[in-house]
Amino acid sequence: MTELKKNFAVIGNPIHHSLSPQIHRAFAKETGLHIEYEAILSPLDEFKNTIHQLIAQKLSGANVTLPFKKEAFQLATSHSSHARIAEAVNTLEFKDDQIIGHNTDGIGLVRDLEQNLDTHLKNKKILLIGAGGAAEGVIYSMLEKKPSELTLTNRTIEKSNVIQNKMDVHAKSFDVNLKVTEIAKCSHQYFDVIINATSASLSNAELHMDPKVFHEGCLAYDMMYGKETSYIREAKSQGSKTSDGLGMLVEQAAEAFFIWHHIKPQTKSVIESLKAF
Ligand code: NDP
Repeated sequence: MTELKKNFAVIGNPIHHSLSPQIHRAFAKETGLHIEYEAILSPLDEFKNTIHQLIAQKLSGANVTLPFKKEAFQLATSHSSHARIAEAVNTLEFKDDQIIGHNTDGIGLVRDLEQNLDTHLKNKKILLIGAGGAAEGVIYSMLEKKPSELTLTNRTIEKSNVIQNKMDVHAKSFDVNLKVTEIAKCSHQYFDVIINATSASLSNAELHMDPKVFHEGCLAYDMMYGKETSYIREAKSQGSKTSDGLGMLVEQAAEAFFIWHHIKPQTKSVIESLKAF
């Protein structure tokens, strides 16, 4: 008897730029699974209806991207621990009448740093720039790796303070010094890993960071991918190692694939083929 093809999708607005269909189809080909994976544009005020229509069409799961990760959290009937702590969902599983919400962004970032870029976080000093959904979604996964210090900074510093208050209990449980520093004062401190989780590059805006924050021994990571940002250019000019967020994108997709299919796909060849794309 032939196995029924399972259907999946990524939902966002806009969605035309999404690489998720390409990534999941590559994983399916490599693992020999027969799946459909489409990109679906949801009207901004219709996310809930879009999801219920997809469930009625017997979709097995969906990825969720901007700007619906918070709404997906509200819609889910149960949550993984990472989704519950981030209060945001990027992966949905539809099982019977349950909608299970997961967040794989943090796992994706940490795997890219540690496995692909050989940058281990234990006992390291990390600076995380940004206090939007992407920043909040990765903090718990980084704390789990027990860096010695995690410093948060953001243009609107009050948002970093809110996140620090929320995450402090977890930081204490992993014995991590979680603190907030104004962006202008970051260059007075030493960091092993500096992560740009802002969307500043989308509008070609500068972060107004002192380039002295970068140095030869540090990794400067930008969650953005697809073009070299001024953040990456500045870090390179100071001799830092650099990486964009393509590996994070592929690794978070691999974790979603594992949640749905219980198979871990190979990621390195997919990252390489997307780099060449
Ligand atoms: P949000 O809109 O939730 O947050 C945006 C953040 O960027 C805020 O901290 C905001 O600061 C800051 N920001 C925006 N413009 C500027 C500017 N001109 N100067 C300084 N700071 C600025 O977005 P997300 O957190 O969801 O996404 C952030 C980035 O991460 C995006 O580029 C996204 O593509 C990327 N991303 C990559 C992933 C991957 O797999 N590689 C996964 C998820 C996200 P303020 O609070 O002051 O407004």
